[in-house]
Amino acid sequence: MILCDFSSIIDDYDVFFFDSYGVLRNHQGLISGIDKTIKYLHDRNKVIRILTNDASRNAAGLLATYQRLGIRSLTEDQVISSGMMAKSYLETKVKSGLVVYLGTEQSASYIVQAGLEPFPISRVTPDMYDEITALVFLDDEGYDWNVDLNKTYNLLRYRNIPTIVANTDKVYPKSDKELNLATGAVARILETISGRTFIKFGKPDTQMFIYALESVPNYHTYSKSKMLMIGDTLHTDVMGGNKFGIATALVLSGNTSEKEADLMIRSSSIIPDFICRSAGL
Ligand SMILES: [Mg+2]
Repeated sequence: MILCDFSSIIDDYDVFFFDSYGVLRNHQGLISGIDKTIKYLHDRNKVIRILTNDASRNAAGLLATYQRLGIRSLTEDQVISSGMMAKSYLETKVKSGLVVYLGTEQSASYIVQAGLEPFPISRVTPDMYDEITALVFLDDEGYDWNVDLNKTYNLLRYRNIPTIVANTDKVYPKSDKELNLATGAVARILETISGRTFIKFGKPDTQMFIYALESVPNYHTYSKSKMLMIGDTLHTDVMGGNKFGIATALVLSGNTSEKEADLMIRSSSIIPDFICRSAGL
């Protein structure tokens, strides 16, 4: 495994797609040197988009986190979340009725933005089943896993409704040594048990990359050979970037440790173009 310095590849690209958690920040705050990276790119008028499989809050909420951490130059249009994909789907495919969600109240803003009525799984009772028109997995917090996952299962048994997973990630780093199960893991449990096929949004789906690119003014003037996806997870960030046909950099500042990177790349056959310790300068 050849490690390269992020500073040695930064000048070769014009469009930068960054994953958020494990790349720009972690449980302790900003990854060291990321503020310098963002400033370096802004100073040179490079395009930055943050592509996150985080549907726990809307773009404004996600942006507020970065501003609080000291990166004030980022703007709301630079943040693309998988929740935004779920919102578009709800808007066009689910016209009315109660949309039941698993997540925090904050995450339910994607349902509100789609013009629909959010309803937390914790308040669902069997006599309401007929009024429910969709089910959305938004976040791993905001509900009681024991009580509310059983409720979700029973709702799925009774109603054949579109079930949307707004974050397909299986795990996220909780500390240096611990990972937490993410929304995607919770959804997988229910998908397996119910035998249904859920509708999933976020990386590695190409749809999110297209959405992010189309949000760039005059995007057709940029060549794919000048675009780089930077992520800490092979199965979402690197696979997504590879499928989209752009260069990929795996960073070792999050989900993938230096110790396991080589083995994970070999066993998954998901091959990044670059491996860097971090995207910080
Ligand atoms: Mg990540």
